Amino acid sequence: MTTRSIANVLPAHALKMGPTEVHQPFPTQKVEQVDPFLLLHHFGPWEVSRGYDPLNVGPHPHRGFEPVTFLYSGNIRHRDSRNNTGYLNAGDVQWMTAGMGIIHSERASKDFLEQGGTIEGIQLWVNLAPEHKMVQPRYQDMQQETFPLVELGNGATLRVVAGEFAGQKGPAKTYSAINAWQLELPAGATVDLPVPSGHNFVAYLLDGEAALPSGFSYQGRTALNFKDDGEGISLTGKAEHTRALLLSGAPIGAPVAQQGPFVMNNQTEILQAMRDYQMGKMGFYTEY
Ligand code: MN
Repeated sequence: MTTRSIANVLPAHALKMGPTEVHQPFPTQKVEQVDPFLLLHHFGPWEVSRGYDPLNVGPHPHRGFEPVTFLYSGNIRHRDSRNNTGYLNAGDVQWMTAGMGIIHSERASKDFLEQGGTIEGIQLWVNLAPEHKMVQPRYQDMQQETFPLVELGNGATLRVVAGEFAGQKGPAKTYSAINAWQLELPAGATVDLPVPSGHNFVAYLLDGEAALPSGFSYQGRTALNFKDDGEGISLTGKAEHTRALLLSGAPIGAPVAQQGPFVMNNQTEILQAMRDYQMGKMGFYTEY
């Protein structure tokens, strides 16, 4: 297998958000997106306790893309203007299609706050093609047990959330061709991962350290964005334990106009989104 070379190394920078900060490898000034992936936030690990929920994100709208939450530890409660209520446990993934518009809140669950513990996750924004931006909102809550687990040798494992790997299909329905794989890499294990030609590919290292065939090695809280110049990528674990979220996707190739929680293709559509939100066309949702 020929391997892809690095296009950009994107160390996650800390971004102030409410009482704490999240880590954001992209977008940056230089890399506006890894089409179709618009944004990645790594939150935690945070110690939460009764009366202290750093996640605590009250009701807010989205339109034109898919906010996807990969929860690594803790417990999150989600509610939205479509009357969906859901709980995510460690290992679960919520793949939400905002489409024409939804208002939701995301916070640690009450029970979890009572007992206290660690919360950690990733929120990924996946873009929708122009023809899918106004689809009806959809909500996929997926439990960890539903992700096929592929053994890669030497203790390395890969969970298929979306797309497929080695003939195993992930449960997530997506609007464009996307692979989302969760990799666990012990020290000394090397994995060779084929990536479809034509797909953009980014590997986000949550922690640990991993090396490429070039010999260069990268620490946790770093995204590696690869060129489309090889059949796949090869990673070798350099720390006791390395976790990575691996994302490949067919680029959408459309202009991106973003304003806060709305991602459309031009300014007119952004203004329309603001108007629709204010007029209640994304539903109503007040917390009690
Ligand atoms: Mn949100």
